[in-house]
Amino acid sequence: LPICDMFATMKVADGVGLAATQVGRGVALFIYDCPDDDNRRHVGAICNPVVELPTGKDRRLDASEEGCLSYPGAFESLARPDHSICRGQDPWGEDVEVIGTGLLARCLQHETDHLNGTVFSDRLSTRARRLLTRQHDELAHLYPDDWPVTPRETSAG
Ligand code: ZN
Repeated sequence: LPICDMFATMKVADGVGLAATQVGRGVALFIYDCPDDDNRRHVGAICNPVVELPTGKDRRLDASEEGCLSYPGAFESLARPDHSICRGQDPWGEDVEVIGTGLLARCLQHETDHLNGTVFSDRLSTRARRLLTRQHDELAHLYPDDWPVTPRETSAG
């Protein structure tokens, strides 16, 4: 599996996470290179991810700007739990558990969503989704049709 290619794509696209389905790979895998709430960097790949979110009084929502490599250049505020735990397997088949805070909490939820067929615009209000789509349409000419598969051409231009 070309995980190295995915990391290269994510880096050039300036993303913090990338799901295999976004680059045309039909496998349940995502990669991440993302800071947490303490600005500590976390890098890895998770197969068959399942996200656990806090419930009850532990559940606090963080409404921050969110973007997606599938909507390049467009951002909208989306409230998500500020803490998440993602479990799955690493590329060697070992069970792995990643505890996410801050942007990493958001990233783990966003990428797992992708593998379940949900993009973050699905979680926006109708109005916010319209604004996101408008931003995306205005910037779409800057990106190749198969972005983020071939982001290099964009960064060159
Ligand atoms: Zn995305």
